[in-house]
Amino acid sequence: MKPVMQPMPMPEHNGIARAPTLWQGGWYRYARALTSPNFGARPTGAQIDLIVIHSISLPPGEFGNGSVQRLFTNQLDWEAHPYFQGIRGQQVSSHFFITRLGALWQFVACSDRAWHAGQSCYRGRSNCNDDSIGIELEGIEGGPFEACQYETLSGLCAALLQVYPIAHIAGHEHIAPGRKQDPGPGFDWSLLQRSLALPPQCFPVSN
Ligand SMILES: [Zn+2]
Repeated sequence: MKPVMQPMPMPEHNGIARAPTLWQGGWYRYARALTSPNFGARPTGAQIDLIVIHSISLPPGEFGNGSVQRLFTNQLDWEAHPYFQGIRGQQVSSHFFITRLGALWQFVACSDRAWHAGQSCYRGRSNCNDDSIGIELEGIEGGPFEACQYETLSGLCAALLQVYPIAHIAGHEHIAPGRKQDPGPGFDWSLLQRSLALPPQCFPVSN
């Protein structure tokens, strides 16, 4: 007699099969969590509808040394490199950081306000930290990014689109023009747009 294959039972809750939860309290399941003290509450009623893309490396052009993680957790040794003198004492953070190898880190819950945008204005609203998600890509302003970084980024954006009313994705250079240049011309906006299948209106006009 042929054995009958039984489907694996799904975990049930109130009789409804449930997939593993992608998000828990604003923390993403597939990110490595490292809590930053640099965050605050979002204003009441904030509509989180903007994703801001940044680039960062410390010192610029040096990757994989853990400096970004230390900066976002106030653990960076300002004496360790002459470049660090110029950013000495900065208390900053972003929600996410994607390394050159495509690894994903999270520092602040998406429900909270991270400190990545600074003075900024986009889609007629200022103080973009209030209602945006910040994603830092390990890299240099104007330089290219790795294919695995785009893969991680598009997966993360797709997961954010599931839970937040994201209507815009822009660079730091677009929300703080003249003051910031990251991620710069090396970032492939059309690649991100195609991978997310979002309309061009969701992206900066100049791209
Ligand atoms: Zn930036």
